[in-house]
Amino acid sequence: MLIVHKFGGTSVGDAGCFANVTDIVCDRLAEDDDARLVVVVSAMSGVTDDLIAGARAAVEGRDAVYRQVKARLLDRHLQVVQRLLQQNTERVEVGGFIEDRLHELDLLYRSIAILGELTRRGSDAVVAFGEQLSAHILAAALRERGVRAQALSATDLVVTDDNFGAATPLIQPTRRRLQERVAPLVERGTTPVITGYIGATSEGVTTTLGRGGSDYTAAIVGAGLRADEVWIWSDVNGILTADPNIVPQARTLSGLSYAEAAELAYYGADVLHPKTIRPVVERGIPLRIKNTFDPAHPGTLITARPAPDREPLPAIISTTGLSLIAVGTEDDSWTLQTSAHALQCLCEAGVDVLMFSQSFSEHSLNLVVREQDQAHCLQALGRAFGDDGRVAANGYNLGTRERVATVSVVGMPGWGDAGIVPHAFATLGQHGTRVIAVAQAATERSVSFCIPEDQLAETVRYLHRELGLEV
Ligand code: ASP
Ligand code: MG
Repeated sequence: MLIVHKFGGTSVGDAGCFANVTDIVCDRLAEDDDARLVVVVSAMSGVTDDLIAGARAAVEGRDAVYRQVKARLLDRHLQVVQRLLQQNTERVEVGGFIEDRLHELDLLYRSIAILGELTRRGSDAVVAFGEQLSAHILAAALRERGVRAQALSATDLVVTDDNFGAATPLIQPTRRRLQERVAPLVERGTTPVITGYIGATSEGVTTTLGRGGSDYTAAIVGAGLRADEVWIWSDVNGILTADPNIVPQARTLSGLSYAEAAELAYYGADVLHPKTIRPVVERGIPLRIKNTFDPAHPGTLITARPAPDREPLPAIISTTGLSLIAVGTEDDSWTLQTSAHALQCLCEAGVDVLMFSQSFSEHSLNLVVREQDQAHCLQALGRAFGDDGRVAANGYNLGTRERVATVSVVGMPGWGDAGIVPHAFATLGQHGTRVIAVAQAATERSVSFCIPEDQLAETVRYLHRELGLEV
């Protein structure tokens, strides 16, 4: 039985978490003599964000900030090494690897600062360090526990196109490399620890698969090695009816079809990257979503045909830490082309727009972006529309409106008589939630609302109760 296990950033957030992950891997290996494992790992939580923040500081000439980022990353990773690894040889080796990589990062930041330019290609080179560090730490920790583990960089395995920041893996060359370089290791009883999220073009230039892309890596590796299953380990009990941090009574969706899981992932169910499904569907490989902090919990099983007795519950997916940004004109010179230009500029600047709404009567475009992208987004729009990013100039108004959250309600076929969408609208109305923007799927099975962040928790709890999801 070959299983690909992917551990997310929160699963390797500190030394204790790494130790927990090594326990899980050792337990899985001990379970049966034929157990063969491939591990895919994310960067430690927050590291990718830090790396990006450093690159943005470098390009803006804020030298002290990128130096701090580098120093903080060095400190954080070396601390894990000190606390986690017992043997001096492993400590020295992994410590040295971390120092070397972060020295390279420093050089990269400096060249970004000197050039005053941060391309998507440069940004990918920067963010790729996070997964390299965590993979080496985890492999060393496993070796200390007697597992024959070896860290492998996906830049040698996952071949992609050159769409930096959201590269598409090229199936055939990737499969060939996985078969040539990973399969023989696994055959010999080695447990490869592969960096998630990253890849390289056929010329060897580092790329990334998009934020949260380690899940996608796991699926690609699983499909390429014809694994029996792919397990995605995060910090919650699978895919739930709501965020358990907001609704403690939230229930795990025990079984989902590939299509249902893809839809939930698409709406931002954080535990699964939306592209993860495609590679496993083609080979019919079951996908499990599990909790590293509660490994005995069965989690969610995603297959072509989920068990007929599972309950087709709807799910509420919420995302916080978002900013609402408005760009527009006082007069009616704002056109669809202006919106297209704004979106294009943000795409080129590497800012993810999670939701947007175009108001023709207000001559404006409202954009929902992650809070950490806010300053960068305002700058990119400022450049695009020729002002300093804050005040009106050249007839454009640009500004941050407020902190917002999104709530999506996704129905399952076979649940309830009336559609989920009218039900969701009515419930928000009853609750008095202020709805800032709405996006609805043409299938009428799901709807997303942008609401003020301070109304999120109450709204989600109310929806969960009103949709009858509490037992
Ligand atoms: N480290 C990457 C991110 O934070 C990829 C991942 O965690 O899946 O987006
Ligand atoms: Mg993730």
